[in-house]
Amino acid sequence: MRSPGRTIAIIGGGFSGTVLAVNLLRRVAAQPTRIVLIEREAEIGRGVAYRSHAYAHLLNVPAARMSAQTRDPMQFLRFAQSRDAGCDAEQFLPRRLYGEYLQDLLQRAVEAAPKHVTLERIQAQAESLYRIDPIGPYLVSLSNQQRVLADDVVLACGDPPPASPPAAAALAGHPAYVCDPFRDAALRSEAQTVLLIGSGLTMVDVAIAAANLNPDIQIHVISRHGLLPAAQTAGNASALVGDLRARIGPQPISARSVLRAFRSLLADIECRAGDWRDAINIARQCAPQIWQDMPVCERARFLRHLRAHWAVHRHRMPPASDAQLRQMRQSGQLQIHAGHLLPLAADGDRSISVRWRERGRHDISSLSVDGVINCTGTDQRLSQTQDPLLQGLIEGGLAVADPLGLGWHTGQHGALIDREGVPAEHLFYVGPMLRAQYWEATAAGELRGHAERLAELLTDRSTSYTSPRL
Ligand SMILES: Cc1cc2nc3c(=O)[nH]c(=O)nc-3n(C[C@H](O)[C@H](O)[C@H](O)COP(=O)(O)OP(=O)(O)OC[C@H]3O[C@@H](n4cnc5c(N)ncnc54)[C@H](O)[C@@H]3O)c2cc1C
Repeated sequence: MRSPGRTIAIIGGGFSGTVLAVNLLRRVAAQPTRIVLIEREAEIGRGVAYRSHAYAHLLNVPAARMSAQTRDPMQFLRFAQSRDAGCDAEQFLPRRLYGEYLQDLLQRAVEAAPKHVTLERIQAQAESLYRIDPIGPYLVSLSNQQRVLADDVVLACGDPPPASPPAAAALAGHPAYVCDPFRDAALRSEAQTVLLIGSGLTMVDVAIAAANLNPDIQIHVISRHGLLPAAQTAGNASALVGDLRARIGPQPISARSVLRAFRSLLADIECRAGDWRDAINIARQCAPQIWQDMPVCERARFLRHLRAHWAVHRHRMPPASDAQLRQMRQSGQLQIHAGHLLPLAADGDRSISVRWRERGRHDISSLSVDGVINCTGTDQRLSQTQDPLLQGLIEGGLAVADPLGLGWHTGQHGALIDREGVPAEHLFYVGPMLRAQYWEATAAGELRGHAERLAELLTDRSTSYTSPRL
């Protein structure tokens, strides 16, 4: 069977894949276009972030800044108000509601699309991707034995899942150890004492959900620096005038010069009685340009010395989560430890012995817990990936991992760069692994822009192979 026109396959139906599909449907290509959205989970639009959990986790950003479409900034707020008229622009709404918003957005785009632009949804895992001939279309093989022949393929498969930290190596398969808090049934109501490894936003989610499930639980958190994310505020859009890049000076840029310029921006903002968060927000806007102007060795230096500090100030938690964490710390329910975690050891089936060296000291502390949950976040080192699709891309030379372990090596519009250093014309990535190229590429506000620009490129080009449907 031959399908006329072009076929665009999107692998992954989380935020990035869904928003890309919406833009492709809306832009109305000149020729017949078949969009195939391949997602292994039952629901589109959820991904890791916007799933429905027993505990209603909140967005980290106020409703007025969470639109999935740049040209309609209040779209998410209006959707939320259609469900509950009392929602306001500054509110931090449940993440599961955001997933419903993305589903609604896609549904409306499908209904409004002209007849010659169609969306086909396939629930399956994409397992491999290759080209039949060097300039022909791509063949995507799926876990349900189906194969899709596509003129363009966009990987929108997010970040790889978390990997166990070295200290937890002996715990693989232990019933009281959870490696991936996003996928596993991470919380057990009978657990009385739990250790969370990592102190970022994932820890915040898990600690709050654990305390809601069992109000008597004791939670220990360990990370190298023991730093917690700062609290978010509603923000002040008018304060976002400033240019960090101009303060740094000409190339080559060093991590030290970025820090110096950031401190001067911060001092200026504080002089005007501004909020330090405005300095972070300005730095975020300038980050892609600065990152691209930094040599790899300076990027590496930034990651070594400044990443942890950037993360806790940049990735902030909603005020309600901040208040709950403070209350848990004051009551002693939550204890934060800074130090180096030593190898964890199983103590029978139900408990785990924990030892760590306190930061800046020689003392070893220890405790016994009946659950350990890895909250260190996703493992962005693609060279270690166990995912057959990603492994195949690397082994086949179609894609290359960034040398700093941040994601894919990409060119303009997220074009994957192959082993020979050539950017693909018809193979792209959109999602948080663009951080390798732009550093800041995680939040909805950034990813929607990448999805919009890629949709523009894909709909405006005319090249297509004759696509047989397999
Ligand atoms: C817990 C969490 C909370 C967040 N909260 C906010 C927030 O409040 N505000 C904000 O602006 N940003 C937030 N973010 C950041 C941002 O919105 C996410 O990074 C964004 O959702 C990334 O979407 P994605 O589609 O690229 O990746 P993902 O959400 O990871 O989606 C990828 C999808 O691809 C599918 N997939 C992967 N591989 C395959 C395959 N081989 N075959 C088929 N399907 C596959 C997966 O099942 C998944 O559904 C949050 C992120 C996380 C993790």
